[in-house]
Amino acid sequence: MMRHLRPLGLVFLLLSSPAASSAEVGWELVLAGGRVLDPETNLDAVRWIGIHEGRIGEISETPLVGIEVIDVSGLVVAPGFIDLHIHGQEPRSYDYLARDGVTSALELEAGVHHLDGFLARREGRARIHFGASAGHIPARAYVFDGVGLEHFLTARAMERGLRLLWTGFRMWAFPAPKYGHVVADREHRDRIVAALAEELDQGAIGIGMGLAYTPGADGPEITAVFELAAERGVPCFVHLPAQDGPLDMAPLETVLGFARQTGAALHVVHVNSSSQDAVAAYLKRIEEVRSEGMDVTVEAYPYTAGSTAIESALFDEGWREKRETDYGDLQWAATGERLTEESFARYRKTGGTVIIHFMKPEMVATAISHPLTMIASDGMPMLDVSPHPRGAGTRARVLAEYVRERGTLDLMSAMRKMSLDPARRLEAFVPAMRNKGRIRVGADADLVVFDPATVRDRATFEDPHQPSEGIPHVLVGGTFVVRDDALVEGVAPGQALRASH
Ligand SMILES: [Zn+2]
Repeated sequence: MMRHLRPLGLVFLLLSSPAASSAEVGWELVLAGGRVLDPETNLDAVRWIGIHEGRIGEISETPLVGIEVIDVSGLVVAPGFIDLHIHGQEPRSYDYLARDGVTSALELEAGVHHLDGFLARREGRARIHFGASAGHIPARAYVFDGVGLEHFLTARAMERGLRLLWTGFRMWAFPAPKYGHVVADREHRDRIVAALAEELDQGAIGIGMGLAYTPGADGPEITAVFELAAERGVPCFVHLPAQDGPLDMAPLETVLGFARQTGAALHVVHVNSSSQDAVAAYLKRIEEVRSEGMDVTVEAYPYTAGSTAIESALFDEGWREKRETDYGDLQWAATGERLTEESFARYRKTGGTVIIHFMKPEMVATAISHPLTMIASDGMPMLDVSPHPRGAGTRARVLAEYVRERGTLDLMSAMRKMSLDPARRLEAFVPAMRNKGRIRVGADADLVVFDPATVRDRATFEDPHQPSEGIPHVLVGGTFVVRDDALVEGVAPGQALRASH
């Protein structure tokens, strides 16, 4: 008998007395005998999980009957991973993320403009859940450059294409974008804030800010944006302003100042790349302000290179000294080549994605292992010839390197950093997050099944288009999106995740 044909009343009866009734009719799907890890309750034990209508219906110490029963003995069953910082929001990136155990992909740092369009274009077509913040950079691009395309990276790609097409007339036809460097007067500031407010009305998940990319954003503008966040009860997800040197604490102190002054919550993105040699001091400072009652959280990715736009303000005069890097530390994503002074100058004019090899392994290890740090990939679209591997391997790399090889993280802490903590960061204003990031009856069946002995990332800087391995099954809302180590074709259970205010 098909469970989904049963009357609703009976289903409720089943859910309320699961032990007796599931034995009679069985669940739609049973994950049998896996090592279930729930970071909310610290459950770490062999269990049978019964799944019904996209949710977890029962968690049992003894075998359950199901229409379909999948033997997952010897494997870990955990809540699907939630990525708070993923720029790759196209089907190919979702494929790599799913193979890496991700069930929710959120673009919270750069954010978007025209959230409704962004979500509508993915609804019914996405392998995993998706959502975005209201982007301060795209709002500036909209106000100053008239670039109204929904996703900042799409806008950038389009601009790059046009520039290449018109290369001879470039400076005349497409002057350098103004979003980064122009200081807003009162009217422009009001328009930026109004644009962000409109996105929040549409369900944007907080406000994303890339202050290193917008040196033109001054105190009054940043204050106005933080005030909006405070008013709406949402965090600002902030890429800190650039450091003046590898030990500079000022960027963190400045942004903590805005948060304290306005009462807005703050999430510091990729602390590994934003703090360099001061990473331990940054994390200590965040711990201090949290103990004073400030709502500040932090994330990191497990790689020693960053990746960004070569035409952005990050490469304004003085970048080599500030980050103690040189041309040869830059890798051009379109070809994989290392740059020289000459090729840097050439590509800076046309624009494009560059990978920056500049972090010491100890900085990254400190960031990843710290109890406060969530794991977020900052992955770029997987469309370049040579994109940063973090878009494909972040989670598996944490499990392989930090849990298994170095032993600096236990498995439960890793689960918490990759699922529960991100869900908790958002659940006050994104209702769907209350049922994600944990394994309990009634929670969404967004689940990852992996082998802790073999899980590993395969994507490298030389060969990034390699999905992670040792993650045989991934379910989104009870639907397999990865099964037996392969993508399932033709499924799109991913849903739009929205804030409600
Ligand atoms: Zn980013």
